[in-house]
Amino acid sequence: MSNTTALHCASEAGHAQSQPIVLHRAASDLPASKQPSTWSIPAIQALLDLPLMDLLFQAQQVHRAHWPANEIELATLLSVKTGGCPENCGYCPQSAEFDTGVQAQKLMDIDAVRSAAQAAKDAGASRFCMGAAWRAPKDRDIEKMGALIAEVKSLGLQTCATLGMLQPHQAQSLRAAGLDYYNHNLDTAPEYYQDVVSTRQYQDRLDTLQAVRDSGISVCCGGIIGMGELPVHRAGLIAQLANMQPYPDSVPINSLVRVPGTPLADSEPVDPLDFVRVIALARITMPQARVRLSAGRQQLGETVQTLCFLAGANSIFYGDKLLVTGNPSFDADKALMQKLGLRGASTGTPSQA
Ligand code: SF4
Repeated sequence: MSNTTALHCASEAGHAQSQPIVLHRAASDLPASKQPSTWSIPAIQALLDLPLMDLLFQAQQVHRAHWPANEIELATLLSVKTGGCPENCGYCPQSAEFDTGVQAQKLMDIDAVRSAAQAAKDAGASRFCMGAAWRAPKDRDIEKMGALIAEVKSLGLQTCATLGMLQPHQAQSLRAAGLDYYNHNLDTAPEYYQDVVSTRQYQDRLDTLQAVRDSGISVCCGGIIGMGELPVHRAGLIAQLANMQPYPDSVPINSLVRVPGTPLADSEPVDPLDFVRVIALARITMPQARVRLSAGRQQLGETVQTLCFLAGANSIFYGDKLLVTGNPSFDADKALMQKLGLRGASTGTPSQA
């Protein structure tokens, strides 16, 4: 987990051309727009280089072909176990290696999680995500998380968790407890990953994603923009995601929150329009994925967020805190939605507009 929702990352020395990542599911089981396809990095870079209006127009057309035009999913994220993580993800204030002032906290109890989930539901959220700063949970942690998941599920919310690397039997236990989505982000292109984290390998990420998919849990997987990566790395990240077979059900795109004390605190701020372009790439290459504006929304402001919605984002993290960093308040988001004529979606499932 992290300051962003880009959690538990790793990489291996990259390849210039993204290869399809097979998350096994029979191709015949997939809807037409999720059928296997291969996006080359040059093809994605060509999209990235389009005049912005052309890119936005294309992304909005794809969006309207697969989703209601004015609906966004509202997902609330709660840090249920904070800080003290042994990984060294360069963007994350929860790493024990960095002095960021984050106080480590043990796993929250069930009553506190239930009341946070109920408050999120009362505010209009349809999905409740629980994050825990573990490198890899132990089986006893999975058992405790299972109880939290069942409790949240009983409130009528979709459930999501991000807990680090999973073994196949752990993913199956989470599924049995009622988990709908598991978040495990790739963060960036493989060839840039070692600049961001060195305590894990990219293949670990893919193995967990495979275990999640095999268990029947939907995959939530995205990345972070603004960590000093080049445009080719942004294209490489999108290629990695889009070439998964099938691609993720949810794709959170984070704008780096530069937290003092983390190695990436002094990164050059990302140009907001470059961020918008990445949202458009995600929409065009993964038409049926929920594309979620995640960390960094506070710094984007209303106008850039609006451009992101135009580019195909149709989900936000909703609530005044995102793990350990700030997020727009419920009231601010409700006001923005009203201004834009957006309504909250009741499910994470695509439907024809
Ligand atoms: S340092 Fe730990 S909590 Fe933070 S993103 Fe990395 S794995 Fe997750």
